[in-house]
Amino acid sequence: MTWIFSEVALLPDGWAKNVRLSIDTQGRIDSLDMDAEPGPRDLVLKDRILLPAPANLHSHGFQRALAGLTETRGGTGQDSFWTWRRLMYAFLEHLTPDHTQAINAFAQMEMLEAGYASVAEFHYVHHQGGGIPYDDPAENSLRVVAAASDTGIGLTLLPVYYAQGGVDGRALEGGQLRFKCGLDQYAEIWGNAQKGLRALPGDCFIGIAPHSLRAVSKADLEKLTRTHGSGPIHIHIAEQLAEIEEIEQAHGQRPVDWLLNNFSIDGNWCLVHATHLSESEKERLARSGAVTGLCPVTEANLGDGIFDAAGFMARSGRMGIGTDSNVAISLVHELRTLEYSQRLHHKKRAVLCAPDASTGRTLFDAACAGGAQANGRDSGALKVGLYADMMSLDAGSLDLTDLSGDTALDSWIFSSRDRLIADVWAAGRHLVKEGRHIRRERIARDYRQAITYLRKLL
Ligand SMILES: [Zn+2]
Repeated sequence: MTWIFSEVALLPDGWAKNVRLSIDTQGRIDSLDMDAEPGPRDLVLKDRILLPAPANLHSHGFQRALAGLTETRGGTGQDSFWTWRRLMYAFLEHLTPDHTQAINAFAQMEMLEAGYASVAEFHYVHHQGGGIPYDDPAENSLRVVAAASDTGIGLTLLPVYYAQGGVDGRALEGGQLRFKCGLDQYAEIWGNAQKGLRALPGDCFIGIAPHSLRAVSKADLEKLTRTHGSGPIHIHIAEQLAEIEEIEQAHGQRPVDWLLNNFSIDGNWCLVHATHLSESEKERLARSGAVTGLCPVTEANLGDGIFDAAGFMARSGRMGIGTDSNVAISLVHELRTLEYSQRLHHKKRAVLCAPDASTGRTLFDAACAGGAQANGRDSGALKVGLYADMMSLDAGSLDLTDLSGDTALDSWIFSSRDRLIADVWAAGRHLVKEGRHIRRERIARDYRQAITYLRKLL
């Protein structure tokens, strides 16, 4: 049993003083008392604010190594998501399992340092170039698992099912062959990955990720959800206007409408990048109980468009935050980008602010609840029985001096330079201390080696 004492903490009912909690051997909060005294063996957090640490609900870990390399215009003068994707495929040509592991470990370490306790890894690079399977077809999935064993992050592994090049069923080609699976091969990858996950702590497990309505047929989606759909189900849904047109032309319905009309969508589902929704899709999606996975920094980087978060929250829709392309791994950057996108659109301030909380608090609470649900993780709050996914902020920093409650949270999210996170625990594993991951040096060294090799080839 581990005991932690903090002078200030954010609990489900609000801010509390002198909080003492214990964590059991499974990493769950076993007891929690307010107005307590520290015990003799407690880890006493001095000048710290204790918060729940949210889940990162969407990541493609390997793309971290591409960050900053795709900020020029394509030959057409019209750079877009699709030119970015071509560069991403070129990069993939050279990626080995060792690289996959080193890059994922580095990205996971940065996530922990940014305040995320867990990640849902939407993992789609299964094969060697040309689509040749590795000896173990789950090789690359197991490298993501190995990275999580190294970093200690709470992993929800989502092996991606990607079978076709478009909604018309056209074949995959070129770089996409590294993603391609039939249902039988997918079952093998999924099964081997599930076995591999047994080496990790009990808060790490597996779900599924049918890639998108472009890449998966209706028949396959039905089979997949029937055979492997008891855990989290994540899907890319409505990120690009071209993708929405493609679905509309094929099915006569917009993607979210089509999904809701053909599948029973519930709280197990996470619809990633539900960026472009009609009014009725917003209403129906909010009512379904599914989480909308927003990745505001990547969506801005790729020029996807603006999600109507204000309209979705007004309908009590659930949403959480993902780092997606990992172009800049920063929780506060995601939260403030989400709010600023609404301000720029509506020409107003404090758009996502609930009546009884500040803007930062509203965003943070939504990210904690939505992320935990999407990752299928018993967490998202400091509460007995939940995993001890927690972080502490440095209350002695200049940004937070003499501030408390929601104002301190707002200052961290809107005005800090990201470096206020002192500690992070994932299911009770104390992985970040004084702002640094406990294995930072070696993980960074492995990552440097991988990118030094890859950047020479690009
Ligand atoms: Zn994605």
